[in-house]
Amino acid sequence: MAKILKKIWIFPILFILVTGWYFSNSDWLYTKWDSRCVFCDESVIGSQTIYRGEKASILATHKPVVKGHLLVIPNRHVETFDGLTTEELIEMSALVKKAHFGKEYVLLQKNGILAGQSVPHVHFHLLPREKEMGLFGFTLRILYGKFLKALSKEEMKEYVNELSAMLEGSGHPRYEIGSHEEGLKERAL
Ligand SMILES: [Zn+2]
Repeated sequence: MAKILKKIWIFPILFILVTGWYFSNSDWLYTKWDSRCVFCDESVIGSQTIYRGEKASILATHKPVVKGHLLVIPNRHVETFDGLTTEELIEMSALVKKAHFGKEYVLLQKNGILAGQSVPHVHFHLLPREKEMGLFGFTLRILYGKFLKALSKEEMKEYVNELSAMLEGSGHPRYEIGSHEEGLKERAL
C-alpha cells in the first residue's frame, strides 16, 4: 500500500499545477469592466465608506481577503493610477499611511484588465498580515479573491463599524455613516 501511495502522490500535485496554470491563464479569470462603476455608486459609498476626505476615501471591501482589508480610493472617478492628480495622490497616500492599523501589511494596486483590476476606479488594497494565516494561504486568497463570499448588508454594517472603531483606536478620525449620507445629500443639492 505504502509503495502504491509513494507512486501516485505525483498525480494530485500534477492536477493542482495543471488546473492552476489553466485557470490563471483563462479569460474568465479577468473581470470585464462594467460601464457602471461601483465606487461611484451612492449605495456602495453609503454602505462601505469608513472615512471620506476632500479628495479620497477609505472603504471596507465587500469581499475581505483578511480581516481589516480596506480600500483607499479617489473620490473622483479615475480609472488608473496615472490619471490621478498630485493633490489626490497626496491625500490617498496620507490615508494609506493612517489606515494600516499599525500592523505589517501588503499594499496592492492594479491598473488595467490584464493586470487583474476588477473595478475601473483606482483603488489601493490595504491587507493586514496576520501570523495565523500563512503566506501561501494569503496569496491564494488574493489570487482567487473574486470567488470569496460577499458580505451581506448586515455583515457589512458590522464590519464597517468594527473597522471604524479600529481606525479610531489607531488615531484616525471616525467617519459616521449617517453623517456621510447627509453629506452626500448636501453635495447633490
Ligand atoms: Zn468610479
